[in-house]
Amino acid sequence: MKVLIIEDDIQIVEAIKLAFKIRWSEAEVTSVALGEKGIDFTRTDRPDIVILDLGLPDISGFEVLKRIRQFSKVPILILTVMADESDKVRGLEWGADDYVTKPFKQLELLARVRALLRRLMPSDEGPMVRGVLSYKPDTFQFFHGDNELNLTRTEGVIIRHLMKNYGQVVTHASMAEAIWGVDYPDSAQSLKVYIRRVREKLENDPGQPRLLLTKAGIGYYLAKTEE
Ligand code: CA
Repeated sequence: MKVLIIEDDIQIVEAIKLAFKIRWSEAEVTSVALGEKGIDFTRTDRPDIVILDLGLPDISGFEVLKRIRQFSKVPILILTVMADESDKVRGLEWGADDYVTKPFKQLELLARVRALLRRLMPSDEGPMVRGVLSYKPDTFQFFHGDNELNLTRTEGVIIRHLMKNYGQVVTHASMAEAIWGVDYPDSAQSLKVYIRRVREKLENDPGQPRLLLTKAGIGYYLAKTEE
């Protein structure tokens, strides 16, 4: 298990490394302070998870996120500052899988990392076809007709959960549990950001969705369609 931390604050890096050492000693943790180095390292060393600070000395964390997403679906957990709500939303929109706000508890961070990685575990489920959508579990690929959807892991988990409940409403809490393992206070809001992104990749007109529909105040569901 390889963990890459892209963060210039030495104290935070040391705290994260210590937490791993105590609780998860088999993880191989590397850190870099510069965004450019982080991108290079992700490309060459293929970490299993990236922990990314948004405030870096050379380029912004958003730039790092955007560029990593051009070649990798590696789970990315962003570190945001408590006060900055818009950073969190923007990070999720740009392809982050989850976020932790600073200051954070080390155990909270490890729990989020574990939840993220759990999604990568090979599962024994078979391929699934629901209406125009299909899913190949061995490669974690999703298709709309013949076109592959370029989804991040989290977006894939969302679609997979909706496909498993085809035609039925999936509540916010149920979706949060599928993604994070637990339902936490902010989850409905983060979910909204993910759903918007998934619609951009799934719908012809994301503003007038026909496949991924909202049940106001309750959750989301996939409309049943002809094959
Ligand atoms: Ca920083």
